[in-house]
Amino acid sequence: MSRHHPKNSTLAEFAAGTLDEGRSLVVATHLTMCGQCREFVSAMEEAGGQMLDAVEPVAMREGALALAMARIGQEAPRAPTARAKPSPLAAVWQPEQNSLLGYDLGPWRWVSPGLHYRAVMVPAGDDTRVFMLKAKPGLKIPEHRHTGTELTCVLAGAFIHEGGRYGAGDCDDADQDDGHSPVIDEGEVCICLVAMQGDIRLTGFFGRMIQPLIRI
Ligand SMILES: [Zn+2]
Repeated sequence: MSRHHPKNSTLAEFAAGTLDEGRSLVVATHLTMCGQCREFVSAMEEAGGQMLDAVEPVAMREGALALAMARIGQEAPRAPTARAKPSPLAAVWQPEQNSLLGYDLGPWRWVSPGLHYRAVMVPAGDDTRVFMLKAKPGLKIPEHRHTGTELTCVLAGAFIHEGGRYGAGDCDDADQDDGHSPVIDEGEVCICLVAMQGDIRLTGFFGRMIQPLIRI
């Protein structure tokens, strides 16, 4: 049912295993809700495997086979590298659970009237911050720009901005050229999963409130 998807370049990096962990978590969440992108990612993974098969074999150096056999005797075989099958949405995230695809979640923290924030505990190692936002219907998020990228997957409810309406399962793959000022759609509380790189530049009351939280 989703109509907004991650960029093809983002999906390709995910399939190649080169996307950072925070953004991969957002893509994986979208994949649980989007058959179209699941097919795209498996096709990319298959193409990558065929490319490896087509690589010219290189001549082994002398003794390599004996060395390999010796190593096989010493080491346990590697675990299969195939990506786990995406699970249904219910297994990904439920309000009463405190994890998302196995990642621990921090407590909901009040940001401003109608807006809450909770951290997603993705191991550090890059400058991506991962968090969830919960916003009440009708809330306006102030216009903001990024010096990096922002990848968002809607888990519940919907928001609307210049790019259209983003409902449950939709992904907003914004880069530093995109400035936007989302409004939460009427009817349902909106909950989003966000992976953000770089700094966010916010203006206005909400912006000043949320900025210290997002810098964590
Ligand atoms: Zn998709």
